[in-house]
Amino acid sequence: MSKANESPHVATAMRIAREVAGPQAASVDRDARFPREALDALKEARLLSAFVPKAMGGLGLGMIELSQMCEALAQHCASTGMVFAMHQIQVACLVRHANGVGFFERYLKELAAKQYLIASVTSEVGIGGEMRTSICAVEKSGDRFKLDKDASTISYGEHADDLLVTARAAPDATPNDQALVLVSKPDYSLERTGAWDTLGMRGTCSPPFKMRSTGSAERILPAPFADIASQTMVPFSHILWASCWLGISTAAVSKARAFVRNQARSKPGQTPPSAMRLAEVATQLQMMRANVHDVASECEYLMNHPESSIDVLSSVAFAVKMNNLKVSTSEAAFQIAHRCLGICGIMGYKNDSKFSIGIHMRDSMSAALMVSNDRILSTNAAMLLVLKDD
Ligand SMILES: Cc1cc2nc3c(=O)[nH]c(=O)nc-3n(C[C@H](O)[C@H](O)[C@H](O)COP(=O)(O)OP(=O)(O)OC[C@H]3O[C@@H](n4cnc5c(N)ncnc54)[C@H](O)[C@@H]3O)c2cc1C
Repeated sequence: MSKANESPHVATAMRIAREVAGPQAASVDRDARFPREALDALKEARLLSAFVPKAMGGLGLGMIELSQMCEALAQHCASTGMVFAMHQIQVACLVRHANGVGFFERYLKELAAKQYLIASVTSEVGIGGEMRTSICAVEKSGDRFKLDKDASTISYGEHADDLLVTARAAPDATPNDQALVLVSKPDYSLERTGAWDTLGMRGTCSPPFKMRSTGSAERILPAPFADIASQTMVPFSHILWASCWLGISTAAVSKARAFVRNQARSKPGQTPPSAMRLAEVATQLQMMRANVHDVASECEYLMNHPESSIDVLSSVAFAVKMNNLKVSTSEAAFQIAHRCLGICGIMGYKNDSKFSIGIHMRDSMSAALMVSNDRILSTNAAMLLVLKDD
């Protein structure tokens, strides 16, 4: 991350990452517990409303700063980074698609004032990671709705204030005619239907739940979910997830670098053989960083110029690019951690060593599954058949 253009808010996130998230990361991972201390510190710094416009009491930050914050947090605790990323994705959907609607304007002001945490409920039993399909449906009756969902994963579901839920827009709607609905704690119940005892990302606390909710119909976003997904949810997800994976990779390479330096100090005048492997993995990290920063910058530019960019954000070329970022960075994250394990050897393999790479390998393994890369590649395969220009 470049220090030269670091914003004060990014500097705050970096401090929280170093001083709060990092020291708790081992216990968060060991006990598969919510990173409460880091989230409290992020709330205290008002970073949960980082993307909410200043006029509504937020910080009015953009994609680049969010990406840098996710990277910094995940470098010290991947679960903290991912919780922060998932929350910001939900906030972005509300800011970009419900701004100007009375109820949501009031909600965003309240979110900024009270630092609400929003969880995402897109996955569904029987659907898997296909975000653009739902089985459950919103049932409207007068000015109220009822929505029940058998959710396969809700990260930090038990710790969130509100949920943003996808569903078919009506009981007679087709599976991809979807709406996005904001449900708030007093209006929903979660029945846990399984455990979250995973290899990595253990602090995201993401078990399956049966969700039951009701609410006033004004909580259904007016925009079709198809637009929200292509213009906001997918780009924000892929960029902020990739930023977290970049943080994990940076942490793994830092340990490998420290290990090689240690080796070099023990035999002055000789370059350790592992230094070549370090040079190799450093090139992959640089490519990954350039990829994330390039796409984040492009996205920020497009989102700051809505009058000329709405067609671009909805285009096949943009969707392919976002998917390429997800697939390439998720693969790179695991490869980089694996290479760092090779560099650190047995000291990387031991869980109690200061060069341990285990947590980075386990956390990075979630990247390719968090919407399956095969699913994304098959979507891109179909889109590439109709894409004329790169
Ligand atoms: C750390 C973490 C946190 C998460 N948090 C949340 C959350 O908060 N909210 C939420 O809603 N979800 C969340 N998820 C769920 C996630 O977003 C996906 O829904 C889930 O990982 C996909 O589950 P799956 O692998 O069982 O299903 P699938 O996507 O159905 O994949 C199952 C298998 O089928 C294959 N497959 C499926 N479709 C295709 C295709 N078209 N072409 C080729 N192969 C295919 C896949 O490769 C895979 O082998 C989280 C996941 C992780 C890892």
